[in-house]
Amino acid sequence: MQNGLDPSESDPRFHQQMVYAVTMKTIENFDRALGHSMRLAGVGRRATTYPRLRLFPHAFYGANAFYSRELNAILFGYFLADAANPGPNLPGQTVFTCLSHDVIAHETTHALVDRLRPLFLEASNEDVLAFHEGFADLVALFQHFSYPDVLRQHIQQTRSDIRTPTPLVELARQFGYATGTGKALRSALDAPGTKLSDDLLEPHDRGSVLVAAVFGGYDTTYRNRIYDLIRIATGGTGQLPSGDLHPDLVNRIALEASRTAQRVLDMCVRAFDYLPPVDVEFGDFLRALVTADYELLPADPDLRDAMIEAFRLRGIYPSGVTSLAEESLLWPAPPAGLAPIGAEVVNLLQDVFFQAIQSFETGGWQSPADFTLRPSVSPERQYQSTDEQGEEYRLDLNAEFATQLALYAQRNAAALGLDPGARTQVRGFHPVFRVAPNGRLLIELVAQFAQQDSSLHQELGGIPFRGGATVIASGDGTVRYLITKPFHRAAGDATGERARARLARQRGFVATADMTNPKTPYMPRDEYATRIAAMADFSALHGG
Ligand SMILES: [Zn+2]
Repeated sequence: MQNGLDPSESDPRFHQQMVYAVTMKTIENFDRALGHSMRLAGVGRRATTYPRLRLFPHAFYGANAFYSRELNAILFGYFLADAANPGPNLPGQTVFTCLSHDVIAHETTHALVDRLRPLFLEASNEDVLAFHEGFADLVALFQHFSYPDVLRQHIQQTRSDIRTPTPLVELARQFGYATGTGKALRSALDAPGTKLSDDLLEPHDRGSVLVAAVFGGYDTTYRNRIYDLIRIATGGTGQLPSGDLHPDLVNRIALEASRTAQRVLDMCVRAFDYLPPVDVEFGDFLRALVTADYELLPADPDLRDAMIEAFRLRGIYPSGVTSLAEESLLWPAPPAGLAPIGAEVVNLLQDVFFQAIQSFETGGWQSPADFTLRPSVSPERQYQSTDEQGEEYRLDLNAEFATQLALYAQRNAAALGLDPGARTQVRGFHPVFRVAPNGRLLIELVAQFAQQDSSLHQELGGIPFRGGATVIASGDGTVRYLITKPFHRAAGDATGERARARLARQRGFVATADMTNPKTPYMPRDEYATRIAAMADFSALHGG
């Protein structure tokens, strides 16, 4: 679009351009929906604080591509297409994974999710890694709908039935065919009646149930929204005649399809602010979707209702809710007596907002998240912490702010489902500025806290037991939503019970993982000690 190189499989410079363009498009989708900048690109003065994500279009020979946290990079492989069954490829043709939109978008999403929720790489239940995979597929899938030519062609071909298996709803088609499987790598469609079952453990397979659920919700909403167009076009019968559809009708349907897809993608990304910091379950994602969308568009429930129904059809239920009505799926309000989040940090908050407002005036709108680190604070003062249990992590947050937030968590530990006696890690903080479609400016503060018990490391296969809480506050610091995964030493009867149930479930997950892995009895001692931690190795997960 900006006079780049023409598409060419044989020009390695085009390969680089392709990877860069799709990566940036994916990052921009996150930035817009989240109302703050992900800064994976490492621009401006922030370049020194977080290293730039590195992209290697021709990293290795092999039918694979993966994100590596250790290398802070995405590595794309290349391989020869299957000689016997190459699909639409030439037998033995070199296939570059860096030329696949879906592979690039999927891997970039892994990197983004890892930045937003670093503890989602710990398999504390069967949904955690499956969520990583499913979410990465969702972003790749819904980005398909932003290419108008593809979309119009598809709608003409399928006569507006979006559930027809075509490249639009398939993922990594070339990769799938080139590896000799005779089909695309994955699809957004599931067979009618497919349910999430306990023995579906492989992360991509389990994740595809999540993809099918979100796509189902999208499809219902899309069909409702084009129904009037179809009726107008058919004189009220709703039955399309045979032959090609009128190009004007195709254009209008494509517009609706792409608008709805963009709203679903925004809704999914925005839901991240409403996810717990640890131990995510598919049901948590549904609650986060509903809450995030309700906050922005309270009077417009059709998409939320469709999502709830699509999740229900696939047997994805949140735990601890009394019904599937919208109001019981919204995350709960905090217990009375939880202090406002800005009480200890009120001056710092004023700084954040003041500078954000200034940037409106000077015209150069910058993401407010850029102001969590004040210009006077040098990058070396970026918050780095070593937990008493030796865990190192770092945050895009100045140290003073982080100390104050840790104090807040300590004082309110019981209400947050945490142990007042244990050290609390601040795992994230940012202000969010969003403009709702009705023009309303929504200001929120999102903070994440976590605690860990690493004495259970060995028993849990190399990861600690963690509890955590996400706190969503309005601009004045009043806590509006509290999303908790209680720690097992938390006080309070109900909280303690939930926490112990979580620990029992995590132990059960380890047992099931061991039982279903034929290698378990033969693992050398050191491999056995980290077998659950090792599940999150994407280079192993994406073996082609
Ligand atoms: Zn993946």
